[in-house]
Amino acid sequence: MENRLKTLYRLQLIDDELDELEASRGDLPLMVRELENRIKTLQNAVESKELEIKEAQEKQQKDESEIERYLENQKKFKSQLFSVKNNREYDALNKEIDQTEVQIKKLEMEIESIKVNNQKLDREINEVKPELEELVADLENKQADLKQIIKSTEKEEVKKREQREKIESQVRKPDLTAYLRIRKAKNGKAVATIKRSACSGCHNIVPPQRQLEIRKNNRLFNCEYCGRILVSNEIAEEIVKEG
Ligand SMILES: [Zn+2]
Repeated sequence: MENRLKTLYRLQLIDDELDELEASRGDLPLMVRELENRIKTLQNAVESKELEIKEAQEKQQKDESEIERYLENQKKFKSQLFSVKNNREYDALNKEIDQTEVQIKKLEMEIESIKVNNQKLDREINEVKPELEELVADLENKQADLKQIIKSTEKEEVKKREQREKIESQVRKPDLTAYLRIRKAKNGKAVATIKRSACSGCHNIVPPQRQLEIRKNNRLFNCEYCGRILVSNEIAEEIVKEG
């Protein structure tokens, strides 16, 4: 049991060290992530507008060739006007010509609104582009800075991660699950010691009777206020002495 508690405390200490390493990188990792997200959002917006423009242009081309077809038909109908045999045929042809005219007008209006909309989309894209370029440049700088910082602490981190893995493999599965859960909920600190009769995690007093029980190191106790795993000072001191 004592070993179980010791391993948990060792795990907490190595995680503390890794957290410190992470913290030494400051806000950079977060800033890089936020920049990446912002860029991605803007790029997606630009891409979807570019796609919209492309599809509208295809539609415009279709409309234009349809107009040409109508114009050819119209020309044919108009030439036929000269060879009609009676009023009925004449009226029928004129009706066809009128209808063709209506269709052409409709298509021309559609093309016009496509053009207006595409111009609007183009403007929107061009408005975003300088911001996007700025953000990308900013991201590149920050990524380079972060890389530099990571590089300077890389060896130390690799070593600590290896140590951590070794320690973690010694922790019992249910203990590890509890540890990780509490660590996540309690800002990284899952294991606490007793300092001046209080839980080092939440500073609430641990009752004397409970302190005695904890000092026996034969059971796993959680702080009744914050839920952190409590280990005795004896165990904490021993582990710290180990280095
Ligand atoms: Zn507590």
